[in-house]
Amino acid sequence: MARRLEKLHADFGRWCMVWGLSRLAREADIQFADDLGMALGRCDPRSGRIVLNGVLLAPENETLLAETLCHEAAHIVAHLRYGPRIAEHGPEWQEYMTKAGFQPRPVIPIGEVAGMAPRAESGPRPRVRR
Ligand SMILES: [Zn+2]
Repeated sequence: MARRLEKLHADFGRWCMVWGLSRLAREADIQFADDLGMALGRCDPRSGRIVLNGVLLAPENETLLAETLCHEAAHIVAHLRYGPRIAEHGPEWQEYMTKAGFQPRPVIPIGEVAGMAPRAESGPRPRVRR
């Protein structure tokens, strides 16, 4: 686990460089929590705090962990560069995801997340919102 988190922080530092905002790598506060419900991550652009769902620490979710951290960090960068009025998952956010090497996906199908059980109710398949 320590090795995986080390790699995650290294990846994060690289994305921040690519985005031209290396200070974010030092200033962001990355935490894990188990009470995010169906959300894989949350961020607060003002404080630089990123909270990731603890389910992402499962080894099977390693790729999603990186994608989710990048997803939230891209929100912060887009907010810092363009202000609060841009669309949440608009072209600015998408560009940062692409530059970091990810396909910009606003939501992740729940079936891709190991250990996140779908809700029992019928209806459309729940998707993970971020
Ligand atoms: Zn998002």
